Amino acid sequence: MTKDQLRDFFVDQGDKAFRGNQVYEWLWQKSAHSFDAMTNISKETRSMLEEHFVINHIKVDQMQRSSDGTIKNAVRLHDGLVVESVLIPTETRTTACVSSQVGCSLDCRFCATARLKRMRNLNPDEIYDQVVAIDNESRLYFNRPLSNIVFMGMGEPLMNYNNVLNAIEKITSPEGLGMSPKRIVVSTSGVPKMIKRMADEKVKFGLAVSLHSAIDEVRTSIMPFNATFPLKDLREALEYWYAQTKSRITYEYVVWSGINDTKEAVDALVKFCKFAPSKVNIIEYNPIDDGEFQQASAKAVEMYQNILEQNGITVTVRRSRGKDIDAACGQLANKQ
Ligand code: SF4
Repeated sequence: MTKDQLRDFFVDQGDKAFRGNQVYEWLWQKSAHSFDAMTNISKETRSMLEEHFVINHIKVDQMQRSSDGTIKNAVRLHDGLVVESVLIPTETRTTACVSSQVGCSLDCRFCATARLKRMRNLNPDEIYDQVVAIDNESRLYFNRPLSNIVFMGMGEPLMNYNNVLNAIEKITSPEGLGMSPKRIVVSTSGVPKMIKRMADEKVKFGLAVSLHSAIDEVRTSIMPFNATFPLKDLREALEYWYAQTKSRITYEYVVWSGINDTKEAVDALVKFCKFAPSKVNIIEYNPIDDGEFQQASAKAVEMYQNILEQNGITVTVRRSRGKDIDAACGQLANKQ
């Protein structure tokens, strides 16, 4: 319920509207899991709330810790389904990688989540609660609050557009967690219509695109939905995004042996992203089972780095974290 709906509810009950503000604060700012926790509200009112409502909070069913400090949460939802979210610590930051769907609507062939298929979208509160759980863990284990959020867990966030934006609105609101949108990145496989919509809404958070190839034929072979949303449409949407937001675009990119480890592939990438300030994150690949995809050689990654840099494109090579607990990129699959 919105704050106004809660205020109206209390007025209808013959109570004061500000009780709605109090309950709203308990739910979002203080993440109360029960009405009993709402100690500035009378016992009588709390029982009345109990009669009318339930709080469908998430529950961290299992927490696994990697030898590199990464934490993976298996998060049970009110209907029994499970998603995973990951806390990634570095020297200076704690990043939460959160899920937006149970399973995924898309079918990237290198991704373990794709095998689950989409079961349902997460609600805004379920996304928000994953962030709260990781913030609590960051404070407990690393003595600092959560600093960054990436929507790079299970699911395609732009296929659950309204709920993801609603969650971000709550995360960034002073009535929620009050985090800066500059510390949030939504990572998409590239849904052109939704990228344009975000641009129109002048969102303040960052955009990352899982590209992996700038050649249609290759991209369709590893990300079959590219046949529906080809690179031409993606590029046009990204041009629109940049024109509206003037915000740099990040590309997530895995280099696989025999798939995109050629000079032709790098040249296509340069051509694709040169139109706007761009950053390419080359991500280490984490094999998920049958060995169909193999990480490319260090030489191929170096070739990417050199050519991108020569063309004035920022490039970083990221080592994946949390591999020993299946928490790394592409590995989230509710294995436990
Ligand atoms: S990589 Fe992302 S969009 Fe593709 S199947 Fe996996 S979770 Fe879905």
